Amino acid sequence: MNGVGVLDTIVYEERLLKQNVTIHTGSRLESVHDKGAVVVDRYGMREDILADSIVLAVGFAPQRDLAGQLQRETSNEVYAVGDCVNTRKILDAIHEGHLAARNL
Ligand SMILES: Cc1cc2nc3c(=O)[nH]c(=O)nc-3n(C[C@H](O)[C@H](O)[C@H](O)COP(=O)(O)OP(=O)(O)OC[C@H]3O[C@@H](n4cnc5c(N)ncnc54)[C@H](O)[C@@H]3O)c2cc1C
Repeated sequence: MNGVGVLDTIVYEERLLKQNVTIHTGSRLESVHDKGAVVVDRYGMREDILADSIVLAVGFAPQRDLAGQLQRETSNEVYAVGDCVNTRKILDAIHEGHLAARNL
């Protein structure tokens, strides 16, 4: 679990285990059917999983070219801050926003 402390991870994993939740990292959801889902792991191995519910936690990625595009297509000054630079914590976004505002 990225961005989660080691102790928190242990607690979360224990709770998930008690609820019969299984975690498949590095896998791609291929299809969902009445009784579960088919996932393909990083080696291309397909697995049919029986499940009542499926939770997708796929994360976020910045589209860094959008700020550059906005700068090129308008006469405005553009400052990229926060998650559009890199997905991180809220304090990073606040800090970079503060610095950008001070440089206006
Ligand atoms: C589920 C989840 C849990 C998180 N938990 C924590 C946590 O516990 N602690 C922590 O520090 N951080 C946490 N984060 C990260 C934190 O939320 C982000 O780092 C922070 O919100 C980044 O701020 P931002 O202003 O860069 O982006 P955002 O908060 O994503 O703000 C971007 C804004 O731009 C708007 N927008 C997008 N596209 C357009 C467009 N084309 N036109 C106009 N508006 C647009 C969006 O609607 C949004 O309001 C979490 C993130 C997620 C997703």
